[in-house]
Amino acid sequence: MKIPFNKINFAKQELKNIENCIKKGHIAGDGVYTILCNKWFLKNFKRRTLLTHSCTCAIEMAAILAGLKPEDEVIMPSYSFVSTANAFVLAGAKPVFVDIKPDTLNINEDLIERAITKKTKAIVAVHYAGVGCEMDKLMQIAKKHGLYLFEDAALGFYAKYKDKFLGTIGDLGTYSFHETKSIVSGEGGALSINNKKFLERAEIIREKGTNRSKFFRGEVDKYTWVDIGSSYLPSDIIAAFLYAQFERVKEITKKRLLIWEQYHNFFEKYETKGLLRRPFVPKYCEHNGSVYYILFNDLKTRAKFMEYMKKNGIATPFHYIPLHSSPAGLKYGKISGCLKNTGIISDTIARLPIFYSLTKEQTRKILKTSEKFLNGTI
Ligand SMILES: *Cc1c(COP(=O)(O)O)cnc(C)c1O
Repeated sequence: MKIPFNKINFAKQELKNIENCIKKGHIAGDGVYTILCNKWFLKNFKRRTLLTHSCTCAIEMAAILAGLKPEDEVIMPSYSFVSTANAFVLAGAKPVFVDIKPDTLNINEDLIERAITKKTKAIVAVHYAGVGCEMDKLMQIAKKHGLYLFEDAALGFYAKYKDKFLGTIGDLGTYSFHETKSIVSGEGGALSINNKKFLERAEIIREKGTNRSKFFRGEVDKYTWVDIGSSYLPSDIIAAFLYAQFERVKEITKKRLLIWEQYHNFFEKYETKGLLRRPFVPKYCEHNGSVYYILFNDLKTRAKFMEYMKKNGIATPFHYIPLHSSPAGLKYGKISGCLKNTGIISDTIARLPIFYSLTKEQTRKILKTSEKFLNGTI
């Protein structure tokens, strides 16, 4: 039996909600379930949050909201998913890549100030594996230099930094509900609006540049084209699935954390022996078990590990390919300083299967197989 890297999970309620949504006859955006999701965000995160088709769309909205001009610069880590940078390039701006820290794999806050120029408009904090960036420091830098601070919390839904939910701290935050993340709706995302000045315009951008949201609330008597925008609102069918997941978020997160802890305890002795490194979570961060990874000492060992696991039917993919050295990164981006850690991490990281329905037997097999490899008994 093969063990996949990820498997989607859903209970009866997801299907019931979808059926109910279709029966109600409103399957376009902003129907009953979208409103329920909005209420969930207000109640739990205390934020106005707009559902989108993806985290990619939410970052694109953030880029439009930032009012970027050609050649404006946005500071971000190179160790991230394509969309973190691409969204700003679409808006005409230039991503400026800085290195990450070797412990949390998050942007190195000490390298940001030297990357700031007259053209810098924003900083993007990417919370890798749902472990929060040094938000206090980033907020302080953003404030001092008059920059926006955005959070790419694609992997950080329901995780916390100093008791604050990730994505609710900077001016805007983005989430992903892609099927590979912890809370899913197939494709899906959201934009958390933490700086109220963006609220009205965000609604307009999401609705093709129209004031349709105001119209539906009865605040204007007809709606019209008032600004630029696109169609960023997902079908209520997506929201129906997502809302059922929101109601199970505690249970899903608990299960993921349990698997995460099991891996973490198991690999401890190998870290002590110097064979690998494990994730580091600062004590003021509560992660969400979205990713479990190990870091090998070199690329060759990582490749051997992945090959051995694959031979045994276990998927252990690597993660982000650095953005700064990719073809589009070279064309549209700029590097600040030396991106040594980015290269090393990208070469040595391996992720382990982590999903809600991972069974005890499967976990046992993953650990046994890893053990054989690490003990050199293969
Ligand atoms: C997955 C991911 C995204 C993209 O999410 P989508 O919902 O698929 O658009 C963006 N940023 C990061 C850091 C991610 O891991």
